[in-house]
Amino acid sequence: MLIAGNWKMNTTLDTARTLANEVVAAVGDPGAVQVAMCPPFVSLDAVFNTLRGSSVKLGAQNMHDVDGGAYTGEIAASMLRSVGCDYVILGHSERRQYFGETDAGVNRKVQQALKHGLIPIVCVGEVLDERRAGKEQAVVKTQVEKALQDVTLANAAQLVIAYEPVWAIGTGETATPEQAQEMHAFIRSLLTAQYGAMAADIHILYGGSMKPGNAADLLSQTDVDGGLIGGASLKAPDFAAIVTAGQNAVAGA
Ligand code: PEP
Repeated sequence: MLIAGNWKMNTTLDTARTLANEVVAAVGDPGAVQVAMCPPFVSLDAVFNTLRGSSVKLGAQNMHDVDGGAYTGEIAASMLRSVGCDYVILGHSERRQYFGETDAGVNRKVQQALKHGLIPIVCVGEVLDERRAGKEQAVVKTQVEKALQDVTLANAAQLVIAYEPVWAIGTGETATPEQAQEMHAFIRSLLTAQYGAMAADIHILYGGSMKPGNAADLLSQTDVDGGLIGGASLKAPDFAAIVTAGQNAVAGA
């Protein structure tokens, strides 16, 4: 079980430090649940220092796909490692929608993240029209297969997939637990086709308006191995409540 917070383009240096401190205090010992937070780039170093001594891990929200050089404004995987990141979110729908990210680009970033020892959290998910047309599995299949093309893994802990139906992100709409389970099982089958038995242990997170009120139902689904949390990760008590729901789901499994 992994609960990761995506702070998106929120917080300044001071408010990031404060939020990180609040989350560490609110989460306490998360037990069997792995917890991560992904602040904006400029706050990674400060947040990492806040997380020292806790079991909460650090992630970034994006990175470039080459080692370094003349790429003004970009951030390399080695830079993320140097400020303490274990995770990096890749291919978030907002990056695809507003910044033109493609499946091929996501694939290059996944390879680059793994080369530098970062765990990619690869986001996939359909838009509303695609679901209405019954194409959600076809869309997600393409996204997963292209993102993972030629990607080899030594173990399941090297990769995380986040299923984030775009129509549920930041909208207050949530996939039903049944819709989430159906898609997660489908993604698991794609991972099994590529990675065999190892796929059983690859974390598949649900993202899309997960909140304290719906987390328990979503996280108790067989193939839902955690959550990628946007809005609710900016409120420490809400984020901690989702972590607690994750602990309960593990205990009840
Ligand atoms: C996200 O953007 O990854 C996300 C899940 O956002 P929210 O929880 O706000 O829908």
